[in-house]
Amino acid sequence: MERTLIVFKPDSVQRGIVGEVLTRFERVGLKIVGTKMLQPDYDHYHQHYEGIGTLKTRKGDEIFESQLKSMLVGPVIAMVLEGVDAVETVRKMVGSTEPKSALPGTIRGDYAHVSYGAANASGKSVSNIIHASADANEAEQEIAHWFSESEMYDYEAVHEKFTQPKNS
Ligand code: GDP
Ligand code: MG
Repeated sequence: MERTLIVFKPDSVQRGIVGEVLTRFERVGLKIVGTKMLQPDYDHYHQHYEGIGTLKTRKGDEIFESQLKSMLVGPVIAMVLEGVDAVETVRKMVGSTEPKSALPGTIRGDYAHVSYGAANASGKSVSNIIHASADANEAEQEIAHWFSESEMYDYEAVHEKFTQPKNS
């Protein structure tokens, strides 16, 4: 079974929509195998967004620094979700990075609408609710960066025989 990292960003924590967004992942049968609230420091986010995510390399200093600043404003809720093709499934549900372009039905499309243009003009990062690992390699590195082995759990969900078929 595959694991992926999600992080409810300060905007979703402060808007009080974590529960309803999380419900979407539970409904499709993804299993929570780790979770915690925390307020990481600059270095933690530097490693997350550049060391692993190459955001500075891809988007430049200005967007990188404004993104880190927006993450540092408050606590976040990090989770490890498990399921069949969990990385791809979660990214599909989260939608594209720019809320303006994110389709209705996706989390970013349903809970935000801002364009890069508007965000960049205000000098702020684009508030898009949630972080999700982009691919399997990123997921593996991010999970190791955010969670220790002892913070993740194995258990059987009652719906697993329908939602996460395994060889028996
Ligand atoms: P993600 O994997 O879809 O979250 O996108 P990236 O890894 O490319 O970027 C990380 C985060 O930086 C995004 O979720 C946004 O919050 C922010 N971000 C990325 N690109 C831009 C941009 O062009 N403008 C602004 N304002 N923020 C951006
Ligand atoms: Mg990314």
